[in-house]
Amino acid sequence: MTEQLPVDPALVEAAAALAPEVAAARHGELAEQIRRANRLYYEDDAPELTDPEYDALFRELVVLETAFPALVTPESPTQRVGGAPSAGRFPEVRHLRPMLSLGNAFGHDDLRSFDARVRKGLGLPAAPEPAEGLTYVAELKIDGLAISLRYERGRLVLGSTRGDGTTGEDVTANLRTIRTIPERLTEPATLEARGEVFMPKAEFARINAEREAAGLALYANPRNSGAGSLRQKDPSVTSGRQLATWIYQLLEDAPAGGLFDAPAASVTSQSAALARMDTLGFPVNPDREAGLDIEGVVAFTEKWREARHALPYETDGVVVKVDRFDQQERLGMVSRAPRWAIAYKFPPEQVETLVEDIVPYVGRTGSLTPVAHLRPAKVAGSTVARATLHNLDEVRRKDIRIGDTIVLQKAGDVIPEVVRPVLAKRPPDAREFVMPDACPVCGTGVVRDEGAVRHYCPNPVCPARLAQAYGHFVGRGGMDIEGAGWAVLTQLLERGLIHRRADFFALDAATLATLERFGPKSAENLAAAIQKARVGRPMAKVLNALGMPQVGESTAVDLARWLAGRVRPDAFPPADGAAVPDPWFAAAEAELRRVALEEPVLIQEVSGIGPTVGAAVAGWFADPATADVLLELVTAGVVPERPVPAPVGEAVAAGPLAGKTVVVSGSLEGFSREAAEDAVRAAGGKPAGSVSKKTDYLVAGPGAGSKLAKAAELGVAVLDEAGFRRLLADESGEVTA
Ligand code: NAD
Repeated sequence: MTEQLPVDPALVEAAAALAPEVAAARHGELAEQIRRANRLYYEDDAPELTDPEYDALFRELVVLETAFPALVTPESPTQRVGGAPSAGRFPEVRHLRPMLSLGNAFGHDDLRSFDARVRKGLGLPAAPEPAEGLTYVAELKIDGLAISLRYERGRLVLGSTRGDGTTGEDVTANLRTIRTIPERLTEPATLEARGEVFMPKAEFARINAEREAAGLALYANPRNSGAGSLRQKDPSVTSGRQLATWIYQLLEDAPAGGLFDAPAASVTSQSAALARMDTLGFPVNPDREAGLDIEGVVAFTEKWREARHALPYETDGVVVKVDRFDQQERLGMVSRAPRWAIAYKFPPEQVETLVEDIVPYVGRTGSLTPVAHLRPAKVAGSTVARATLHNLDEVRRKDIRIGDTIVLQKAGDVIPEVVRPVLAKRPPDAREFVMPDACPVCGTGVVRDEGAVRHYCPNPVCPARLAQAYGHFVGRGGMDIEGAGWAVLTQLLERGLIHRRADFFALDAATLATLERFGPKSAENLAAAIQKARVGRPMAKVLNALGMPQVGESTAVDLARWLAGRVRPDAFPPADGAAVPDPWFAAAEAELRRVALEEPVLIQEVSGIGPTVGAAVAGWFADPATADVLLELVTAGVVPERPVPAPVGEAVAAGPLAGKTVVVSGSLEGFSREAAEDAVRAAGGKPAGSVSKKTDYLVAGPGAGSKLAKAAELGVAVLDEAGFRRLLADESGEVTA
C-alpha cells in the first residue's frame, strides 16, 4: 500500500463509517472533478475553481483513500504531481531528479502535527521537549509556476517547467527573456536551480486591463497569468510581460560524483544553499528566516498573514523545510511530496458584503460594464466598494442580484472579485440586473454584436467614451501628460477647448489659466508638461495612446517595431523646411494607413498579431471618426522616439538563416548573447538554448564547453564568430551586428 499524505484522524474515522460502494462512488466523482480542475489549471492556465475550493476536494479525496486504502491507484490525483506537459507545444525535458509537490497545512495545529512527525521520524523527543539539532527554515510560498534551470560551467543551458514532476516542458527561450534569471553565474558551476516564476501584482493588473480593453477573457489570478505568459510558443510574447523569479532550491554537482547525486560537500543545509544561490547571482527572496523551532514558524506565518498584502507579488503561504540535508535525507518522501517540508496556506481572505446596486459604466471603447456597488468591506488589506462584474453573461452565470449578500475576494490580491452570492441570505426582493437599451450617458441605442459578450454604445462621440478616451490618451501608458487629470479633462471637453487629440498640443498657458482652480503657475506647469510629452515619447506609447480597439501596450510595441522595420530612417532625408517636424513619423503614419487600407493581411506578420487585430487597425483607418487621428498628431508636431526595428516577414523568410535553428554558446567578441540571437532572428533563423538533432549550427565562442562536445557527437556544424558573421552577411553583403 502506498503511504498517504497525513490528514485529520477524526475525518478519517467519520469517512470509514461509509458503505464501501458509497465511498468508491464518491471517490470516482472527486477524482474526476480534480482531474478536470488540474487540466484547467496546469494545462490551460484557466481554472474554474478557487484554490480553497480545490484544496477542499483534494483533502476529501485523501481522507477517503486513508479510510479505504483499496481506492488508491497509481492514477489517483493523490499520487501525481501537477499536470501533463501539453503535447507538442514544447519539447519534453526529463528531470534529473523529480520535481515534487508539497503536503499542505491549513492551520497552526497542522504545523505542530508536522513537527511531531518530523521529530518521530528523526527519533527525537516529542514536544514540548527541545529537539536538539532540529531547526526549520521558513520561506514565503510563491504562487507561481515551478521551474528548473540547468547551468553548465556557469551558463544557463536549459530551463523547464515542472510538468508532471518527471517530465516537464523545455521553455528555455521564454525563460531567457526574464531579466532576473542570470544567463551566467558568478562562478563556472554546473548545477540545477529550482524556483518559481511569477507575475508581480502590478503587471497582472496591467495585463488584465489590456485584455479587458481588447475584449479577451481575463486571467483569474497572477499565477495563471504568469503561467500563461511563460508557456507561450512565441518568446516575444513572454518578453513583453514583466515576469520575475525567486529561486529556492539548489541541486549541485557533487565534486567527486555524477550529476546531482549529492549536494556539494560545502553546502549541507537549506539555509546555506539559499545563501550560496544568492552569491551565485540568483534572485533569492530575502523574506525568509532560518534557525526556527515550530513556534518560531507559527510566528513567521502570523507576521506575514497581513504584511504580505504590501508585497509586490502574491504569496499564498509559507513553505517550512527541515534545514539540515542529512535530516531531510533520513526523512525521505511520501507519495508525491517530501516528508521534510510542508506548505502552510494562509486562510483565504474572503468576506461577505452586500450588493447595493449594479450600475452599467461606459468605457473608452463604448463597452457597458456592469459594476457592483458594494457596502464597503475590508478585504486583503484595503476597503472595497466597487467590483466589476465584467459583462451581462458573467452576472447571469454567477447569478448576482441587487440586494444579494455576496462573497468578495481579491483576485491576485489586487482586483476585487465577486465570487458568488450567498443564496441562503438572498432577500425576497433581490432584483436582477437589466442591461439598459440606451447608453446611460448619451442615450444612443446599445448594441451587442452577434456572438459577442459585450454590450456597447456605438456613438464615437459619446461624452463618456470621449472622456475615457482622452484620459487614456494623456495617461501613463500613452502620451503621459502630467497634471492632465480627470477634473482638467472634463473642463477641457465641456468648454470645447479640445475636439481632437491633437488639440492638446495647441493649448497654451494663457488658455489653461482660465480653467477653474488654475493659477498662472499650474497653467504653466501643465503647458510645459504638454510640450514635454510632444517630443520623445516612444512610438509604441503614441500608438497605444490612440486607443485603437485590440491594440494594447504590448501589441503597440510589436506594431511600432514592425513599422520601424518597414520605414527605415535613412529612407527619409531630414526635413528641410518641410511642413512636418518629423518626416519619419509622417512616413510611418502613411505606411500604416496604406497597409491597413490596402493590404491589412500584412499586419498579421507582426509577431503576436492575428487577423482580429489586423481587422481592427484596418477598421480604425476606414472609420472617418478616427481615420485622421494619427495624421493630426504628425501635423501637430509630435515627434516620437523611433523604435528598434523588428525584422520584416519577407526579409525573414528569405534571410540567410531562414528555417535554420542556431545555438549560440560561449562568449563572442562583437555580440552579447541577446544581440547574437537577435541577429539570428533577423536573418530568419531560430535561436535555441541547447544542441539537439534539430540544431543546424552551433556558433561557438571561447567557453562553449559541453555544447561543443554535444555538437560533435550529433554531427552539428560548428561556426566560430567570423564564420557566423560571414553567414549573416551572406544575403545583404554587410554584417548585421
Ligand atoms: P502546492 O501549491 O501546494 O505547493 C507546492 C509547490 O509550491 C512547489 O511545487 C513549488 O512550485 C511551490 N513553491 C513556492 N514557493 C516555494 C518555496 N519557497 N519552496 C518550495 N516550494 C515552493 O502544490 P502544487 O502541487 O504546486 O499545486 C497544488 C495547489 O495548486 C493546490 O493546493 C491549489 O492551491 C492549486 N490548484 C488549484 C486548482 C484550481 O482549480 N483552482 C487546480 C489545481 C491546483
